[in-house]
Amino acid sequence: MSFAELGLIPELLQAVADAGYTEPTPIQRQAIPVVLAGGDVMGGAQTGTGKTASFTLPLLHRMAPYASTSTSPAKHPVRALILAPTRELAMQVQESVVTYSRHLPLRSTCIYGGVDMNAQIAELRRGIEIVVATPGRLLDHVQQKTINLGQVEFLVLDEADRMLDMGFIPDIRRILGLLPAKRQSLLFSATFSEEIKKLADTMLRAPQLIEV
Ligand code: AMP
Repeated sequence: MSFAELGLIPELLQAVADAGYTEPTPIQRQAIPVVLAGGDVMGGAQTGTGKTASFTLPLLHRMAPYASTSTSPAKHPVRALILAPTRELAMQVQESVVTYSRHLPLRSTCIYGGVDMNAQIAELRRGIEIVVATPGRLLDHVQQKTINLGQVEFLVLDEADRMLDMGFIPDIRRILGLLPAKRQSLLFSATFSEEIKKLADTMLRAPQLIEV
């Protein structure tokens, strides 16, 4: 099976070819069709499996038809929110988003703690469709009203088990409360404890379970 057979738009096939990928990994083969069809996913996958592309490629595919080319920041609300447990992971995921979105008019940024907020605020003011964030700093921006999550259509929770270990679940629940109920949500975790299943119950709708 090829990326083209998965039905991805030419801009994404080009980005995948640019990256030198010849065929989708098992998690990509399983997750991409589900996400393209609009379904929620509960994905069991470690890093190194191609997990990041398994959610980024189909989300970009779904976002692309409605991508605005307007220069007005108001026309570029946050449409996709990707939560990651650490700054390093968030940066890695955003690098992947940049790689895969290079032929699309969609902007992304990375939001994490431990650094001054002003550069992040300036970036958000430009109008950014895809935000990759750590939970605490995202909530700081919410509190300061420097980000609006009211138009989020897609949510990804990456490495949910590490989020749990790091004590982020209350923050995540707070963030869930700020998002539109009508959205597509994906949760990825290396392990599925009872705690993760409980979180999945509140966050996902009829999720497809995908394990590699
Ligand atoms: P991840 O599991 O998302 O951290 O990805 C692990 C590594 O695999 C990254 O360096 C990706 O660039 C690479 N990768 C992702 N998908 C593919 C693919 N289909 N073919 C080859 N490499 C890939």
